[in-house]
Amino acid sequence: MSTREQIPVRIDEEVRRLLEDRMILPDEVRGVINHAETTGRKLINSGTGRFLACHRPKAVTYWVEYEGAGDDFQVLTAYSHRMVTKSSGSTSEWVKSGSDSDWLCGQCQVPLEIQTVRLQYMQSIFPIKLPACSGCGFILIEEELAIGKMAEAEQALEDK
Ligand SMILES: [Zn+2]
Repeated sequence: MSTREQIPVRIDEEVRRLLEDRMILPDEVRGVINHAETTGRKLINSGTGRFLACHRPKAVTYWVEYEGAGDDFQVLTAYSHRMVTKSSGSTSEWVKSGSDSDWLCGQCQVPLEIQTVRLQYMQSIFPIKLPACSGCGFILIEEELAIGKMAEAEQALEDK
């Protein structure tokens, strides 16, 4: 029996419709929150106090932004991508731009910094500037990127 069923997660009608459009199941959302809450591997927004976490159970990475604690979690948005965020080699090889992000790494308790990291999809690797944690290598894929440029790139590579 899966433990994710025990996590009470509130999803408003508006968000539920968004998830349907994006073909994300409520169970996948619960899986992300369950993973984040049990491992502590999540980002915390220094402005809003909201959480952002991801989980890749199979070939898709799911991201969920949520708030709450204990037994009451509210889902604010969720999105997914198939592209792998590859922090190949050491994080010390990343090129920092010097600017911080609003997101704090929950495990390392340090702000993410904008750095050049590498994304991989199929046989292609793209260098891209993204907020990432130098401590543990956590790379943040923001919603705008996932549903925009990343989705386009995934589509273009599949059409080849
Ligand atoms: Zn970290």
